[in-house]
Amino acid sequence: MRARCLPRPDRSISSSMHADHAVEKLNRAVFLDRDGVINVEKEYLYRVEDFEFLPGVPQALRLLKEAGFLLIVVTNQSGIARGYYSLADVDRLHRHLQERLVPYGIAVDGFYVCPHHPDHGTGEFTVECSCRKPMPGMIEQAVVDFQIDPARSYLVGDKTSDVAAGRAAGCRSLLVKTGYGARDAAGVPDDVPIVDDLPAAARAILEENPQRG
Ligand SMILES: [Mg+2]
Ligand SMILES: [Zn+2]
Repeated sequence: MRARCLPRPDRSISSSMHADHAVEKLNRAVFLDRDGVINVEKEYLYRVEDFEFLPGVPQALRLLKEAGFLLIVVTNQSGIARGYYSLADVDRLHRHLQERLVPYGIAVDGFYVCPHHPDHGTGEFTVECSCRKPMPGMIEQAVVDFQIDPARSYLVGDKTSDVAAGRAAGCRSLLVKTGYGARDAAGVPDDVPIVDDLPAAARAILEENPQRG
């Protein structure tokens, strides 16, 4: 698990001669908000026993994986800054999530966690950071770590802050109506598709990316 908020090296494709080839080799990803997209939103979820997949989510993740997308979770967890739970708790929950995906033959490729909050809490995580969505820091870090082309990647979230982070990172962004999505639907830009849930988001993404061969 990564919880970094570091200056990022510029990712540059130096030779224009090889630019097309290099872009072709970059990975594509679906960046996923966690709470309210993958699992039922429960306000500061950290207990494994409270984790509950939203309907159809493992199957939707498998479809995206089979279509060649990396699955990258990007999640704000200010409950850490607030002292409600620890990074170790979040790590444990994410290991549980991975175990629950084993029967489907898939795994999340990366988890990016923002443990910060600008005001709440009193410890080391109470800071202004560049990873808390709507900032794109977590996505941009993953783009470097996994050699991702953001322009050919997607973000799926249930809040306007998720959509804003995805757009700031240069990804196509979709809002689901699960979690806070029904509440936030009125607040997203007109060109952002609003879909029922993650399975519907996966179908929309796959429609835009028909499988070759
Ligand atoms: Mg959410
Ligand atoms: Zn942060």
